[in-house]
Amino acid sequence: MENVIVVGGGLAGLRTAQALREQGYRGALSLVGAEPHGPYDRPPLSKEVLSGESDDTALPADWTALDCRVHLGRRVGSLRLDPDRPGGVLGTATGELPFDGLVAATGAAPVRLPGEGPQHVVRTLDDALALRAALRPGARVVVVGAGWIGAEVATAAAAKGCAVTVLEAAPAPLADALGPEVGALTARWYAEAGVELHCGVAVRSVDHGGLTLGDGGQLAADVVVTGVGARPETGWLAGSGLALDRGVAVDASLRTARPEVVAVGDCAARWSHRYGRRLPGGHWDDAVKAAEVAAAALLGRDEVYDPVPYFWSDQFGRTVQYAGDRTVADRVVLRGAPDGPGWTVLWLDGDRLAAVLAVDRPRDLLQGRRLAAAGTPVDPDLLADPDRPLRAAALAAH
Ligand SMILES: Cc1cc2nc3c(=O)[nH]c(=O)nc-3n(C[C@H](O)[C@H](O)[C@H](O)COP(=O)(O)OP(=O)(O)OC[C@H]3O[C@@H](n4cnc5c(N)ncnc54)[C@H](O)[C@@H]3O)c2cc1C
Repeated sequence: MENVIVVGGGLAGLRTAQALREQGYRGALSLVGAEPHGPYDRPPLSKEVLSGESDDTALPADWTALDCRVHLGRRVGSLRLDPDRPGGVLGTATGELPFDGLVAATGAAPVRLPGEGPQHVVRTLDDALALRAALRPGARVVVVGAGWIGAEVATAAAAKGCAVTVLEAAPAPLADALGPEVGALTARWYAEAGVELHCGVAVRSVDHGGLTLGDGGQLAADVVVTGVGARPETGWLAGSGLALDRGVAVDASLRTARPEVVAVGDCAARWSHRYGRRLPGGHWDDAVKAAEVAAAALLGRDEVYDPVPYFWSDQFGRTVQYAGDRTVADRVVLRGAPDGPGWTVLWLDGDRLAAVLAVDRPRDLLQGRRLAAAGTPVDPDLLADPDRPLRAAALAAH
């Protein structure tokens, strides 16, 4: 392999380029990114950038030391794979780029609501700066979606003195991620912050001056923020022959069916032996750690990336961390009081820990993540006691 192109100048693209060099790749290396900015970190966009604590989340990248050619502000529109030999050609508005090794790292794009009215999303630095400028004291801000991003936007908007309303179609915040019963435990945070939360409310369209709701009602707003999820950016791969399944379909080594093409980060849907199914992207941790495995795969080595998924969020003054897969669980254990300063929810699949949600209890997250990853049998009664370390519930320890 002599000519690798990384498409996507985000966290996963940068980390894969760096990992390729660290793992000894000496051929030509280029990175093509649609945004005018170099790689930067996204989690602070809906946290420190919105609140005004930070303007710059750039990730350190020394392109000269990396010997990497960077094309910023250049969007890849198409991929044509050579039917006879490894490699192909990328199409861009300013010419074609041939390669013999390819990293797809194009992330995800936020879903927008129908309607002619202006709506903010938070995906890019420019999105976050535009929304920050609109969050003026007293502004009527309607956030559509009480998921991770919606909760973080509501936190920042309320702290800036906006009159914030959050509309959620599901019966509770974070219902998708945590299930409605556990998600409902976070509803009180909205009330405490002075944010109006309305669940079970669908939005039909965003109009000038507000929204039209699913039942035809109108809601006035100065600022509308849409936080209803993101879809993998895979439009440029249409017609390439690569399989798409809620993202670029890759194996546990991040390889597509073409060994010279890997996908990593939010645009990839990786096969998990652990869960026996494909897992979509969307986690910062994956974008960082899977990059090393993707680089190894491109260089012909078979490493496997199959950890317990991990995600965190900072909302309403709390650090919320989640690891695992709750969907396989048959029992839920609450550890601590949800109106107390910190609490944890544990999902069990038989006597194994399937997932853990820790609110201001980082040690629970760390230990729970390890127990879930190792598949250690646990004693549910011991898990429920917030005064004992989680790891003490491991049955092997007795
Ligand atoms: C506001 C926000 C807050 C978040 N908070 C958290 C958090 O608290 N915890 C957590 O675990 N995760 C969080 N995440 C998720 C995390 O940031 C992502 O998982 C991570 O950024 C994924 O990195 P990526 O490189 O795959 O994609 P991205 O960072 O999206 O980078 C992809 C890049 O590819 C470019 N691109 C797209 N299409 C093309 C094309 N055709 N040609 C060229 N370039 C293209 C895009 O412009 C973009 O710059 C958050 C995400 C957002 C948006």
